[in-house]
Amino acid sequence: MLKTLQRIVQEVNSARSLDETLSIIVRRVRRAMKTDVCSVYLLDSNSQSYVLMATLGLKKESVKQVSLKTDQGLVGYVGMREEPVNLDDATQHPNYVYLAETGEERFHSFLGVPIIHQRRVLGVIVVQHKEKRRFDEGEEAFLVTVSAQLAGQIAHSLATGATSQADAHINGIRGSCFKGVAGTSGIAVGTAVVILPLANLDTVPDRATDDIEGEITQFRAALAAVRNDIHEVNRRLAQRLSEEERALFEAYQRMLDDSALGQEVINKIQEGNWAQGALTEVITRHARFFELSEDDYLKERATDIRDLGRRVLAYLQQTEQAEVEYPNQTILISEEITPAMLGEIPKDQLAGLVSVQGSSNSHVAILARAMGIPAVMGTVDLPVAVLDGQQLIVDAYQGVVFNAPSDELLIQYGQLMQAEEKLQKGLEHIAGLPSETLDGHKMPLLVNTGLAQDITHSLNHGAEGVGLYRTEVPFMISERFPSEGEQQAVYREQLEAFFPQPVTMRTLDIGGDKALPYFPINEANPFLGWRGIRITLDHPEVFLVQVRAMLRASEGLDNLQIMLPMITSLTEVTEATALIERAYHELCQEGLSIKRPAIGVMIEVPGAIYQVTQIARYVDFLSVGSNDLTQYLLAVDRNNPRVAGLYSSFHPAVLNALYSIAQSVKHTDCRLSLCGELAGDARGAILLMAMGYDSLSMNAVNLPRVKSAIRSLHRRDAVQLLDLVLNLESSEQVLEQIGITMEELGLRQLLQPSLSL
Ligand code: PEP
Ligand code: MG
Repeated sequence: MLKTLQRIVQEVNSARSLDETLSIIVRRVRRAMKTDVCSVYLLDSNSQSYVLMATLGLKKESVKQVSLKTDQGLVGYVGMREEPVNLDDATQHPNYVYLAETGEERFHSFLGVPIIHQRRVLGVIVVQHKEKRRFDEGEEAFLVTVSAQLAGQIAHSLATGATSQADAHINGIRGSCFKGVAGTSGIAVGTAVVILPLANLDTVPDRATDDIEGEITQFRAALAAVRNDIHEVNRRLAQRLSEEERALFEAYQRMLDDSALGQEVINKIQEGNWAQGALTEVITRHARFFELSEDDYLKERATDIRDLGRRVLAYLQQTEQAEVEYPNQTILISEEITPAMLGEIPKDQLAGLVSVQGSSNSHVAILARAMGIPAVMGTVDLPVAVLDGQQLIVDAYQGVVFNAPSDELLIQYGQLMQAEEKLQKGLEHIAGLPSETLDGHKMPLLVNTGLAQDITHSLNHGAEGVGLYRTEVPFMISERFPSEGEQQAVYREQLEAFFPQPVTMRTLDIGGDKALPYFPINEANPFLGWRGIRITLDHPEVFLVQVRAMLRASEGLDNLQIMLPMITSLTEVTEATALIERAYHELCQEGLSIKRPAIGVMIEVPGAIYQVTQIARYVDFLSVGSNDLTQYLLAVDRNNPRVAGLYSSFHPAVLNALYSIAQSVKHTDCRLSLCGELAGDARGAILLMAMGYDSLSMNAVNLPRVKSAIRSLHRRDAVQLLDLVLNLESSEQVLEQIGITMEELGLRQLLQPSLSL
């Protein structure tokens, strides 16, 4: 059974469209269960009905013609109950509806299982028999397993595989909303420009062409170029590889002959598909054939065929690339946006970014933040292949993307954007004013930085220093660990720009989702693995070089503070401070005159909350990393869009933890700050001030909004609100209460712009 299931899943995974996905499912399931019929019905959300999308056993002509309302028939019944319905004689069931077009009167037994993805019923898979007999328990369990296994794949095909208007209608693709995670903040409306990853056979769409001859010529040229390359590689490797090993290249050459794969592709182009689509179709079909083989040698050939396909595709795409034209409000979309792609678009034409891969910590998200461009990352279900040229809304506050939005939605978002622009303009005048409440309570606001570009924004917005300089950013844009001198120069720039205000430099915080291309870490659970201080303590040579560079850079300025990320135990604190002390003494011995920097620890691991008073004895300040603390307290991956709905720093458990940290630190000499996203949200900032946090650090763009909130209330208002929310039961209740209070205080306009989706 397991083998059969694996084969079905494997085959479905390589399907190129929704239709293909469904036809594989009905064929394979019917064969595995030896039934007379297997059909898949999918829910059309517009008409609220289940449409027969694929069948083997019922009349073929009824596919996409027959549908049942959600409260109609046995299929509707299965969807409504959200559980299997197993009947020996379907015709006797009160919900049975006779559908003459399908020829189903010949079948008595019925087993229907809902296809459910992320709590949403997508459709129903049905098997039927002529004879009157109940499907046994094993058969029922098998179909439930198939359905559960394939639901994700069907959802993905629904979202990404719509190639026709009919599919798009069923999928609700037009005017739909795709979830990701916010990479930056802001809203953009514009036209999608899809940059396909070069030579990726899985993302090439089918596209009709009128210029058949032109496509064939392009294909032949690409083929000739690859033949040439292979010949060249073969020649170069002649001295290093044996005759036998080089046989592969000859096999490649033969496969590329016009009479073999090449001719098949040309046939497909003649049928009307463009060269890239035709090539992908042929390559995928052949590769799949080999992949399904039991023989390991033949299985390997699938890799060869795909490799060959990718080489030809790369040449075809080179010709295409040159032709990209960027509209005025370009929303750049790609599987994985790279910084190089950003560089290709004139800055004033780039309105927004959407990346299927990546997280808020990806390099490109950091660049987008510095450039002030709304970006949504990790939109795993985005139908990239069908979005080119479509109008999109990118809501980077909520981490969602709307495709082909309705006029009504466009108007609503237009209003939000206008209101936001007006608000930001209106807040410009407070840049030079102090961050204090109406009753004079001071709440210093600092900024989070990473790139040199962040400096100007921050200074314009009246930051009182840097609460978090993410030093991994200069490491990410380098091609190897930057040298001590290189680091010193970058750090000096930050320290000088903010002088005499403090700059808090965090030691290298890589691992988790922050990867360095030249220092890959492959782990099953990266967020629970080798991260932050754990890596740098294991590599004191990296740590010491970095600390020395920071100290050298601070000479004569003395505004450096050093902060340690991901601290889980006191030993890490003592080991790291000892290394800093050592570097400090060595440099003093070298004759440098530097002030000993203040040292701080990030509280972002739940364990540290319970040792916060002990940690406080060893350091000068603490800064809560609420982004990680939330993810670890709630056990929700901060970058996984599938669980994004569960990730909230306003969860009462998180708020109570933050409060308890403040209560513990109150009795120590340590200063307490918070530098996660929560600080940059006016709602969070008000609560943190009430809890007793001494300062907050945030992205520069959020600073005016937060400062305005602080300047508009009395501290007692914030304390009253905190008393109310600490006893509430859910994030929703907390946010509702904050909304009510802010409204009462006349601060409604300072809430993050959002539509209730
Ligand atoms: C945090 O975890 O809250 C934090 C500020 O650090 P980072 O987002 O870089 O992990
Ligand atoms: Mg962190």
